[in-house]
Amino acid sequence: MRNKIDYGIDLGTTNSAVARMENGKPVIKKSDTLKDTHPSCVTITRRKDFLVGDKAVSVNKTDNERAIKNWEKGEVNTYLEFKRTMGTTHSYDSTNLGKALSSEELSAEVLKKLKSYITDENVNSVVITVPAKFLNPQKDATMKAAKLAGFKHIELLQEPVAAATAYGLSSKKKDGYWVVFDFGGGTFDAALIKAEEGILAVKDTAGDNWLGGKNLDNALVDELIIPYLAENYSIDFIINDESKLQMLTAALKPLAEECKNQLSFKDSYNILEEFLPFEDEKGEQPEIDLNVSQSDMDRVLSPFFQKAIDITKELLSKNNLKGSNIDALILVGGPTYSPILRRMLKEQVTENVDTSIDPMTAVAVGAALFASTISVSDEVKDESRDKTKLQLEINYEATTVEFDEMVNVQILKDKTEGKIPDTVFIELTRGDGAWSSGKKKINTEKKT
Ligand code: ADP
Ligand code: MG
Repeated sequence: MRNKIDYGIDLGTTNSAVARMENGKPVIKKSDTLKDTHPSCVTITRRKDFLVGDKAVSVNKTDNERAIKNWEKGEVNTYLEFKRTMGTTHSYDSTNLGKALSSEELSAEVLKKLKSYITDENVNSVVITVPAKFLNPQKDATMKAAKLAGFKHIELLQEPVAAATAYGLSSKKKDGYWVVFDFGGGTFDAALIKAEEGILAVKDTAGDNWLGGKNLDNALVDELIIPYLAENYSIDFIINDESKLQMLTAALKPLAEECKNQLSFKDSYNILEEFLPFEDEKGEQPEIDLNVSQSDMDRVLSPFFQKAIDITKELLSKNNLKGSNIDALILVGGPTYSPILRRMLKEQVTENVDTSIDPMTAVAVGAALFASTISVSDEVKDESRDKTKLQLEINYEATTVEFDEMVNVQILKDKTEGKIPDTVFIELTRGDGAWSSGKKKINTEKKT
């Protein structure tokens, strides 16, 4: 049984992740497809089964491809970005389920999926991160989603604080002004953090709720892929029809997204797609063979990155700070892998752009680190107690810089049903077995 919560979840708009402490270190728990993060996407099948994560994304992709085959949007049973409506009365209709679902219920499905990746113990306690700007109704909705997913003891933590905690672990810097620059899938959040001897506080925030990776993907479709198709095929009947154009954009988005993600690490990328599932005005089935360079990316993406940078600069000037006052700019969110964005930030905000932590998992890692400092509630402990065994309470510092530490062990007489033996020995061993205290006798008469 764990004494500390030890589990952290980043319940993101686009992707979610779970991390836990193992031998004193935060470890990301991978999905069934061995990925670090899991799409916050839910689909309900005709048989009323819930599919969550990668499977739901692939159903969505197939649906969007089917739509451009006969230019008809099908029934909706796949849901994305429901975090946006947390704490509101918005509901999501499902034709397959025959009823509507709330944002909390959909979020609970994501949490259940993450929970299912932990197979070696039953997780009842968890730290879940929320945006710094979340107000009480949104926080309450997050708590409700976590309860629906079966968690009993839930603590909330602000996303930028979690990211800064992950950064603080790996950095020598413990003080100063930090900026968490979180460019996610659909939202941009900047947070100014004051660090004092490792204590982190959010001083101010700014952002744009409609700026994220999705805008980048759509811009790549609009400015590169559709012009390519228009040049090589007769697609005026699509371009002049708003609803058809939307369907085509949705179907092409995965191609644009893959191109964008690859170009974070490569110099050029070839978008190849044999036969889109529709015919142009001349009865030809379009193919795509389009080379995209870094300068194409720069032209299409930099206006979006500039928006985020301007918001960040404004946040600093509002707080009477300059880029040179910032000790670290911490990158969070998939699109911050972009070398174009990283260069722009260095040129326009600060040289101290930190690239040491993984922008996709920093929030979950920070949540687990925070969770390792919070004790599991007595209620949760009592529920999982096997009272037929001797019940002990162990108290110790969660982290220490000392070589010697006190560990206080106490027999909980009132929580033990069986007879307590006259002599009790304890032995403390480290999780990896590399250290042991040896057998120590403890006094069963006195309390400690
Ligand atoms: P959220 O916080 O909204 O859940 P994430 O931080 O998971 O979002 O970011 C999701 C976005 O990151 C998506 O738009 C995805 O395409 C983008 N992304 C993922 N990997 C990369 C990459 N290598 N380069 C650029 N963008 C990426
Ligand atoms: Mg995020």
